[in-house]
Amino acid sequence: MLDKRKFYINGTWVAPIEGTDFEVINPSNEEAFATISLGGEADANAAVAAAKEAFKTWAWSSKQERLDLMNRILEVYMKRSDEMGETISMEMGAPVDMSKMAQSGTGSAHIKAFIRTLENFEFERELRPNTANDRILYEPIGVCGLITPWNWPMNQIALKVMPALATGSTMILKPSEQSPLSGILFADILDEAGVPAGVFNMVNGDGPGVGTTLSGHKDVDMISFTGSTRAGSAITKNAADSVKRVSLELGGKGANIIFADAGENAVQQGVARCFNNTGQSCNAPTRMLVERSRYDEAVAQAQAQAENTAVDMASKEGRHIGPLVSQMQFDKVQNLIEVGIKEDNARLVAGGLGRPDGLNRGYYVRPTVFADCNNDMRIMREEIFGPVLSMMPFDSEEEAIEIANDTDYGLTNYVQTSDPKRANRVARQMRTGMVDMNGQARSSASPFGGYKQSGNGREGGHWGMDEFLEIKAVGGWFPED
Ligand code: NAD
Repeated sequence: MLDKRKFYINGTWVAPIEGTDFEVINPSNEEAFATISLGGEADANAAVAAAKEAFKTWAWSSKQERLDLMNRILEVYMKRSDEMGETISMEMGAPVDMSKMAQSGTGSAHIKAFIRTLENFEFERELRPNTANDRILYEPIGVCGLITPWNWPMNQIALKVMPALATGSTMILKPSEQSPLSGILFADILDEAGVPAGVFNMVNGDGPGVGTTLSGHKDVDMISFTGSTRAGSAITKNAADSVKRVSLELGGKGANIIFADAGENAVQQGVARCFNNTGQSCNAPTRMLVERSRYDEAVAQAQAQAENTAVDMASKEGRHIGPLVSQMQFDKVQNLIEVGIKEDNARLVAGGLGRPDGLNRGYYVRPTVFADCNNDMRIMREEIFGPVLSMMPFDSEEEAIEIANDTDYGLTNYVQTSDPKRANRVARQMRTGMVDMNGQARSSASPFGGYKQSGNGREGGHWGMDEFLEIKAVGGWFPED
């Protein structure tokens, strides 16, 4: 059993002041393999005090100092990238090859992207041309609480820690208690890279404990949160009395609109995207809307693909999907599959309740496809967070847009058509922060975030930096060279 109880506060690894032991479970075999500590209020307070003190100097660090640190972090991260992939695989169940490539890879990609963004970022600007006496100063917001989920742990941590560092803010990271080991390894990487004491702190804990202390703390100036809409709403309420900035990246229920003229692989790509990371992605295209003339063929393709999707242990090399992260997620997904069958009366065409054959231990679920859904069904409205696809036909462009937008969420929608005018027209009408068309990925450093109950923040690129900045307007500025 690994002992990972310590927290990283003020530049050193320290024992918890009032921690409670918590076991980290390997979702592939349901066995505990590490013990962490869930910190208490005193632990969170110690980390906030360290970050507050460090802000006095880090806020005045030069852009070059921050770039040097971020480049050192990148160097150490690259050296330990495979270790990161293996750690994430073990703690949350992503298949090891995928984890090294995609899970760990998102971390290095974001570090690189924020280095580029910082290089080009102007912290002082003229208000507009010919306003030399008006100066706009972009200043670090202060002490930041960074609260992250377990599904893409390093993606989320890098998207918060790097812009916070880049702006001159200081921080307390609270990784998900379900996937804390990647956060601990990341703290170790920052330590090895020489992050100044107190600038970056890491305390493990749960939502009611450290999470709530951070969101309500008067010395925390900003909370950057990624996770469920439920927790995002609780954090916003708890943060209200201290009027801190709260940036939220929440759940999703992405629609994938497949028109009859879409490319041949549109359905296969959509299914693969939905099942990737065992369906545990906020931007997964979980509602597949198919133009009626192509619908029956699409259902048959999705069924075949689900039946051919291999499910296996995370430690096994190769292409397959792993288990869900926890017993709780397993129960939730099973429950929603049951709702789809019994309450919603959708047509189950692949998968269903229970584990795949031959996998009796571990949080494995069967890749599942429901057809003939309508948008009132719970499986079309709720985020299932498992490899479960819900399909429904549509007859016109207007109807497809209407269905896609008829949801509480607004993170990512997908459009598949070979008609360029229609593609752009539909993209404009999507009430989502992101639209991915015809399988083309958005470029690195583009803003990630949602409309409606998918949140209010944007991560990545200069938008991701803006979240961690205050804006000061100065009149009567003396122009300098
Ligand atoms: P979760 O909300 O249960 O937990 C996320 C984090 O918040 C954890 O660190 C948890 O300890 C903490 N937390 C929980 N309750 C809290 C509270 N009241 N106060 C403070 N902190 C609290 O979510 P999860 O199950 O870890 O992650 C899955 C969710 O995250 C899904 O809904 C998914 O869509 C969402 N997500 C969104 C994005 C995005 O960018 N929009 C990205 C990844 C995941």
